[in-house]
Amino acid sequence: LQHLESKIENRGSKDFPTVKFLNYKNRKRILVTGGAGFVGSHLVDRLMLGGHEVIVVDNFFTGRKRNVEHWVGHENFELVHHDIVRPLYLEVDEIYHLASPASPPHYMLNPVKTIKTNTLGTINILGLAKRVGARVLIASTSEVYGDPNEHPQSETYWGHVNPIGPRACYDEGKRVAETLSYAYMRQEGISVRVARIFNTFGPRMHMNDGRVVSNFILQALQNDSITIYGSGKQTRSFQYVSDLVDGLVALMASNYTQPINIGNPVEHTIEEFAVIIKDLVGTKSKVVELAAVEDDPQRRRPDISRAKKYLNWEPKVPLAEGLKQTIMYFARELQRTKHSQKS
Ligand code: NAD
Ligand code: UDP
Ligand code: UDP
Repeated sequence: LQHLESKIENRGSKDFPTVKFLNYKNRKRILVTGGAGFVGSHLVDRLMLGGHEVIVVDNFFTGRKRNVEHWVGHENFELVHHDIVRPLYLEVDEIYHLASPASPPHYMLNPVKTIKTNTLGTINILGLAKRVGARVLIASTSEVYGDPNEHPQSETYWGHVNPIGPRACYDEGKRVAETLSYAYMRQEGISVRVARIFNTFGPRMHMNDGRVVSNFILQALQNDSITIYGSGKQTRSFQYVSDLVDGLVALMASNYTQPINIGNPVEHTIEEFAVIIKDLVGTKSKVVELAAVEDDPQRRRPDISRAKKYLNWEPKVPLAEGLKQTIMYFARELQRTKHSQKS
């Protein structure tokens, strides 16, 4: 064991961020589906730094090898190129199931594939969890509440979703993923955790993912018009990615099996949000109003009493602080793409 410990420490100081050394009993083999994506890659960092063995399964639809490349070659890390719509056979203790496109333009690009990923893909992950006796955490979403009639949204609200609209592939896909999880729990006794994740932002968001945070920051940094869809009176509540990762890890470790909202309850209209970003970037951008998008939820804010009570979790990072980190990230990305276009 001492030999192993010094090996990891040496590697940590030479090539990799320093990882904790865990003895065999505490170290877990953890599968992260969608681990090369935005949220997944931050979770992978947390689990790797904690000394666990991590297997990432990703088809790179929206994820990138670059998000996890700093771990490639580390003996605790494995990156598997695989589409979860096909069965997969691995031996693991825990599964964080994040594989699914998440931004509206991405999931609408191929709605059938989005449904297959969230239904057939989730069946495969639950089948795997059943075979190996692993605990599985499903990344669900505030979109299960649709365009909500209850505000703020608590986990007991059943939602208001258009089953045949353009967002349905994602919303209904995630609702079925939840249904499947509880069916497997009841019928097969598998250990399930369900996180209903609210809008999340941070470094490693995809440049072209079309979500409001990435759009507004990139527009502001380039002095382009900031595009508000519709009146801008619709609201969202944004959480920073490190808070989400804290919540996911706490949920996996807890005994609580019902769905739990993980989000930041500080709510802003999209119009206010445009001004906040404009001011932080210090841009000359104009704010313009474009056509509203179909079925756009008008209000969204999590009730996080459950997470506070059962996970002792609440978000810590203030919006402005998270946005500064994210603005710096996008500024660097713009530099990088300019350089690579020149060379
Ligand atoms: P992302 O698009 O950056 O990451 C998703 C990852 O899943 C990508 O790496 C992608 O390549 C992979 N993937 C997609 N389909 C796959 C398939 N069939 N097989 C294997 N891999 C596949 O998105 P994200 O923002 O990191 O979201 C991660 C999870 O969290 C998703 O399940 C999403 O629904 C959920 N979520 C995210 C947010 C948010 O605001 N970011 C909000 C609610 C829920
Ligand atoms: N599955 C998988 N990996 C495993 C075990 C199962 O991908 O390690 C898939 C398998 O292809 C199956 C699905 O998960 O279609 C559901 O498994 P389950 O055992 O519930 O169903 P069954 O095999 O009985 O149809
Ligand atoms: N939005 C906007 N301008 C943009 C991108 C998005 O006004 O350039 C709006 C969008 O219509 C929605 C909100 O911002 O009301 C959040 O959109 P996003 O796609 O980020 O997430 P989701 O709709 O899934 O919450």
